[in-house]
Amino acid sequence: MSHYIAGMNLQQPHFHDDDAARVYFERIRWPDGRVCPHCGVIGAEYVTKRPGRYRCAAKECRKDFSTTTGTVMEQSHIGLSKWLWVFYQMCASKKGISSHQVRRSLGVSMKAAWFMTHRVREAMKAGGLAAPLGGAGKVVEVDETYHGKISEAQPRYSKVRRGSSIGSRYTIGDKRAIVTLVERGGQSRSFHVASADMATVSKIVRENVDRESRLHTDGSKLYVKVGKDFAAHESVDHSKEEYVRYEPTGPVHNNSAESYFSVFKRGMKGVYQHCQEKHLHRYLAEFDYRHNTRTKLGVDDKQRADLLLAGAEGKRLTYRRTHGKEQHAR
Ligand SMILES: [Zn+2]
Repeated sequence: MSHYIAGMNLQQPHFHDDDAARVYFERIRWPDGRVCPHCGVIGAEYVTKRPGRYRCAAKECRKDFSTTTGTVMEQSHIGLSKWLWVFYQMCASKKGISSHQVRRSLGVSMKAAWFMTHRVREAMKAGGLAAPLGGAGKVVEVDETYHGKISEAQPRYSKVRRGSSIGSRYTIGDKRAIVTLVERGGQSRSFHVASADMATVSKIVRENVDRESRLHTDGSKLYVKVGKDFAAHESVDHSKEEYVRYEPTGPVHNNSAESYFSVFKRGMKGVYQHCQEKHLHRYLAEFDYRHNTRTKLGVDDKQRADLLLAGAEGKRLTYRRTHGKEQHAR
């Protein structure tokens, strides 16, 4: 394998040396000086004898923290250079890297490799307060798919929700239904749902898409009702071999959503063979993250990983300066 991935060189010292990794990561995490993760004070810490360990100098705090306190790497005994390597590999290419490859390449245990890749996925989660997709004049495509061995799956009649008047309906296989929303030319947001029924899909669309948007879907009946809440709802009928229709307002299709699913499925097949259902939402976060920082939007592999490292904080913090007003930041 080449040591060069667009914008990054895996021979660089911070991928092999924990001291270099610490310097690299701190520069990204704390561009304005170290921030105490306990009290939020900036640039007021004592350096201890142990590299990467600090003691807050604020009188009322005086707590210890490290380079990784408050991040997804917190309290891990795995070297920081290995962590950075995994962050970069998972950000590179469309498919990322599996924990098996991490184990082989870094010589760590399978358990450690699995732990690291899932922690990186945690960092990739967009967070619940993200702005809605779309807006006036923008198109948001919605589509649903099923992940898993669909060939083996039997459509089955299943109970839906207790007390639901719908009663029961067909679901496919082991319920690995995925709904994705893709703003055309923009961001994606994907959800693992117990069942892609009208109520579930409508709720996701209403909560995540700006009402001024134009909704593009396939001919599924799932979207007819919720579509009325939006500036326009246009669909193409795949069952009649209609994939793109040209309207005065622009082409109608859901190719962006379908291409998202095709990248996801190819990736999951090649790299992630053993994905448990309870972790599926994390894999979706990972594919969303790479989609949302894709090369087409002007982000290269190095920038994609740096952005992620800069946001690797595990908690929200209230930042404050030693002298001055309180300042809230994520
Ligand atoms: Zn402090």
